Amino acid sequence: MTTRKADKAKKGSTLPSLGLGPEDIATGIRQHYSYNLGRDLSHVTPHYLYTALALTLRDRIMERWRSTKQAYKEAGGKRAYYLSMEFLIGRSLGNAMLNLGLTDAVSQALFDMGLKLEELVEEEQDAGLGNGGLGRLAACFMDSCATLQLPVTGYGLRYEYGMFRQSIADGYQVEEPDHWLRNGHPWELERPEWTVRVRFGGRTEFFRSRDGRDRVRWLDTNDVLAVPYDVPVPGYKNGTVNTLRLWKAAATDEFDLREFNAGDYADSVASKNAAENITMVLYPNDASENGKELRLRQQYFLASASLQDVLNRWVATRGNDFSRFAEENCFQLNDTHPSIAVAELMRLLVDEHDLAWNTAWDITRTCMAYTNHTLLPEALERWPVPLFRQLLPRLLQIIFEINARFLGRVATHWPGDTDRIARMSIIEEGPVQQVRMAYLAIVGSYSVNGVAELHSNLLQQGLFRDFYELWPEKFNNKTNGITPRRWLARCNPALSGLIDEAIGEGWRTDLSQLSRLKPLAEDAAFRERWRTVRRLNKERLLVLKSELGGLHLGADALFDVQVKRIHEYKRQLLNILHVIHLYDRLKRGDMADWTPRCVLIGGKAAPGYVMAKQIIKLINNVAQMVNVDPLSHGRLQVGFLPNYRVSAMQVICPAADLSEQISTAGKEASGTGNMKFMLNGAVTIGTLDGANIEIREEVGAENFFLFGLTADQVEAQRATYDPEAIIAADEDLARVMHLLEIGYFNQFEPGIFDGIIASVKNPHDPWMTAADFRSYVEAQRQAAAAFRDEENWTRMSILNSAAAGRFSSDRTIAEYNRDIWHLDPIPAKPVG
Ligand SMILES: *Cc1c(COP(=O)(O)O)cnc(C)c1O
Repeated sequence: MTTRKADKAKKGSTLPSLGLGPEDIATGIRQHYSYNLGRDLSHVTPHYLYTALALTLRDRIMERWRSTKQAYKEAGGKRAYYLSMEFLIGRSLGNAMLNLGLTDAVSQALFDMGLKLEELVEEEQDAGLGNGGLGRLAACFMDSCATLQLPVTGYGLRYEYGMFRQSIADGYQVEEPDHWLRNGHPWELERPEWTVRVRFGGRTEFFRSRDGRDRVRWLDTNDVLAVPYDVPVPGYKNGTVNTLRLWKAAATDEFDLREFNAGDYADSVASKNAAENITMVLYPNDASENGKELRLRQQYFLASASLQDVLNRWVATRGNDFSRFAEENCFQLNDTHPSIAVAELMRLLVDEHDLAWNTAWDITRTCMAYTNHTLLPEALERWPVPLFRQLLPRLLQIIFEINARFLGRVATHWPGDTDRIARMSIIEEGPVQQVRMAYLAIVGSYSVNGVAELHSNLLQQGLFRDFYELWPEKFNNKTNGITPRRWLARCNPALSGLIDEAIGEGWRTDLSQLSRLKPLAEDAAFRERWRTVRRLNKERLLVLKSELGGLHLGADALFDVQVKRIHEYKRQLLNILHVIHLYDRLKRGDMADWTPRCVLIGGKAAPGYVMAKQIIKLINNVAQMVNVDPLSHGRLQVGFLPNYRVSAMQVICPAADLSEQISTAGKEASGTGNMKFMLNGAVTIGTLDGANIEIREEVGAENFFLFGLTADQVEAQRATYDPEAIIAADEDLARVMHLLEIGYFNQFEPGIFDGIIASVKNPHDPWMTAADFRSYVEAQRQAAAAFRDEENWTRMSILNSAAAGRFSSDRTIAEYNRDIWHLDPIPAKPVG
C-alpha cells in the first residue's frame, strides 16, 4: 500500500471521539436502549435503562482503553501482572462515572429524561468474585494501578456463580447461589481470539531430543479452553484504562467428535460440563483451606492460561529469545492460590520453549513475587501428592526437581542440619506426602511480602523463619490500602463535598492531603457541619437497610459496627458477649450515664464453618431478645445486616461511629475494613493487630480505643490460659456466661449454643476470648463516655479522617512499584 492509501485507511478507521456533555450521554442512552437492547422508549424499565447507561459509559471507556493499549505498546518497557483467584469488584457503574469525570453530566442527562440515577445504580448486581479482604484488595489495587498509570494487567477467573447471597431465616444463615451474570454484564468484553488451551491429567514420557537433550512430553491430556473476558479498569480522570482479564473455562470441540463417532453424541455434549465446571463457582471459604480437586484445577487453570497469554505476546514480538523476559515482566501472586505459576512457568519455558533448566529457573525466580495474606496454619495451602500426580503429573515432576535443587542449597548452607531440611522441604513427609504451596512460592520468588508491619515481622520470626534466615533480602512489607475513589469520593458524597470545600479536591489522588483537615477539628462551625453530614449518613443507612426499620433507636445513638467475614479469630463472639453484658446492666438497673447504642453486625460465614454459623445464630437470638425488651428501647438495639458485600459496605462505612477491629492479636494480617471506617470518620476500638497498629500510630493513641493482649502476650499466656478462672474472677463475665448457660437466649432451642459456651471456657481456645473481655468492656465504657461529649467525639472523628492518608492503596501500589515491580508510569494519549 502506498503511504497515502495507508493514511487514508487509517483515517477511515478512526472515529470521532464521543461527546461528554449531558446531551451526548442522553443520546447514548436512547440509542442503546432502542437499538442495542431493542426496547421501546415509551416503556421504561429500570434494568434496561441501567444497561443502556452502562453501555453509554462503556463506549467512552472503549476509546480510552484502545489508546492506553497503544501508549503501552509504543512505550515498551516492563509490565506487571497481578494474579489473583479473587477480585471483589462490587458495582462498576458509579465508579466508571466517577473515574471518567462524568458524574455530573450523567445526573443531568438522567434528570432531563425524568429518571433518578440512584434507582438505576441499584439495578447493578455486585460482581462478588471474592470472599473478603483479599479479593477486595485486588480490586482496590487495580484502581490504583490505573490511576498511577502503571502498565499492570490483572488476571483472574470469571466465576459463573460469585460469593453466595446470604439471607437469615429463624436466625440462621441461608445460602443462595449468586448467578450474577443472569441479566447480562455490560462491563466485560469477550475476547475469543485470545483463547488458550490448558491441559490436565494424562502421563509424561522422557525422550532424547535431536540435539541430545533429555526432554519430557506430557501426553494423553484432557484439555480445557480458557476464554478471556476483559473488564476495563479506568484510572481516575487520567485517560488510562487498564485491563482485568478473567478466564472462563470452555470445552474443546474435539472430544465431541471422538464420542460422536462412538455413537454417544448426547453424552459427549453433556460431558462438556466437566470442562466448564472449572469456572462455575467461587469457593466460599475465607482464610481456610479448600482441599478439593476442583479448586486445584481452578488454580492451575488461572496460572497456566495467564502465563500462556503473556508468553504468547512475548513470542509474537521476540520469538524464542527470553534473555530479557524477566527484566520486562513480573508476576505478583496474591497469596499462595496462584503459586503453581512458579512450576507452570518452568514447564512452559523448558518443555514448550526449549530453554535449559538453569536458564528457565533464573528467569522464573527473578520475575515472580509473592504476597502472603495470613498466619493462620489452616489457611496454608497444601495439596496431597497423589492428587497432584493424577491431575498435573508434569507439574509434580517439576516441583520435585525444584525441591531437590533447593534442598541441595539448604544442605550447603546448613551442613548436617537434617531437621531444617525436613522443615523447609516443599514436600511435607507423612502418611500422605503434601506439596506446601507457600514454600513453592517463596523458593520461586524474588520478593515475599506481608500486608502490615506486624504481619511481615511475624512472618519473618515465625512461619517463614527458616526462609528468612536463608534469604533475608527477599522479605519486605507492604501495608495494605484502599482506594479513596470508591471508599470516600463515591460512597460518601456529602462528606467529600465538605472536605472539598475545606481543602480542595486533590485528596482523591493524594490522600495525604487529608492532613490539612487537622486544624479544622478545632473549628466549631466545621465540626457542626461534619456532624450534620455524618448524621445524614446514619439516617441513610437506617432507610436503605430495611431490616433496621424496626429498631427502637434513631441516628443519635452510637453506631457501633462490626462488618467482615464471620470467623472465630475476628471475634464477633467477643462483641456479642459485650452486648449481653450491656443488656445485663440494663436489667440490673445500672444505667446511669447511659449512651444509647446501636450495635450492627454483618458478615457471611463459610457454609461449612459450623462455629461461625452458630455465632450468627447467637447474634440474631440476642438481637431478638434485646430489641423487644422495653428496657432497651432508646438504649440498646442490635441489628444483623444480612448479605454483607461491597455495595452494602458503601452505605455502612459512612454511617459508623465506632469501628470494631477486635481480632485476637497476631491473627488479622492487616484488615482493610478498618481503613474504610477510619477514612469516613469512624473511631476504632481495637486490638494491637494488623494495620490497627499503624492506624493508631497515625491518628494518635488519644483518638483510638485500645484494649487487649498484644501478639507477644497472647503467645506467652497461651500455655497457662485458664478461662474458667478468668470467668470466676470477673463478675460481669460470670453473669454473661450464666445467661448463656441457662439458655436465656435460646429458651425454645435447648443446647444450640453449647459449642460456643464450651469454646469460651476451653483452655485451648486459640482466640482467647475470655482473656480480653475485661479490657474490652473498659475500652467500650471509655468509648461510650467519649461519645456523650459530642464536640470532642466530632474532633476525634475529623482527626481519624485527617490521619487516613497513609492507607490509600495508591501509596501501597507506589511502594510495590518502587520496591518490587520497577515500572515506568505511561501517560495516556488523548482520545480522538
Ligand atoms: C473491605 C471489605 C472486607 C474486608 O474487611 P475486614 O474487616 O478487613 O475483614 C470484606 N468484605 C467486604 C465486602 C469489604 O468491602
